[in-house]
Amino acid sequence: MAATERAYRTIGGVPLRYLRSDVRVRTYYARSTAAFEDKLDAFAHDLGRAAPPSYGAVRYIATAGAYVNKPKLHGLGRAFDLDLVRWQGRTCAPIRGHHGHARRAVIRRYIGVDALARRRFKYVLDGWYNAAHRDHLHLDDGGGALVFNAGYRSDTVFIQAAANVMINARLAVDGVYGPKTRRAFATMKDRVGIAHRVSSDARLYRAFLWRLALRALRNKGL
Ligand SMILES: [Zn+2]
Repeated sequence: MAATERAYRTIGGVPLRYLRSDVRVRTYYARSTAAFEDKLDAFAHDLGRAAPPSYGAVRYIATAGAYVNKPKLHGLGRAFDLDLVRWQGRTCAPIRGHHGHARRAVIRRYIGVDALARRRFKYVLDGWYNAAHRDHLHLDDGGGALVFNAGYRSDTVFIQAAANVMINARLAVDGVYGPKTRRAFATMKDRVGIAHRVSSDARLYRAFLWRLALRALRNKGL
């Protein structure tokens, strides 16, 4: 399968934009494998259907690139860097460091987008993962089944950050899945009515992420 077998300027019907240039890019074409684009389509649909009516429709998604001359899965056409999601009435801007925003509502919105991405992509590297990702969300579909992996820093920092803004857990976001993180995650699963087997049952983990996103995008805790 060729890495660049598809070129597209929308995902899920939502136009793509490129913001990392002073030159106005009228139409941005991303390239990837067909299978990867299908996952992006599903993600873009989720951004529309998970958001409350006050957000309005998704107007555009800004990307720093999909198939680009970068290592690993970008070079295979199986990765996407997300800079910003613009709904009619709201914005989630990883490119502006929204994971560390002063307002909890903005961080919750970022958690909502992050959670929706994890329903489609095993590796989501976010602002808590490392300094290289404080200005974009990296999505790729390497790494196997879409379950929660306590041994993956990418999964653990997300759960810790989510627990801090959704149940005020006051966890260190350090990627270490210790007893406090385990308890906070258990509390979150209980509050959304999801059984605890999210590390073995992908359907359950995806259901957890969906319910988390619905609350987070509405600026409601769990
Ligand atoms: Zn990337």
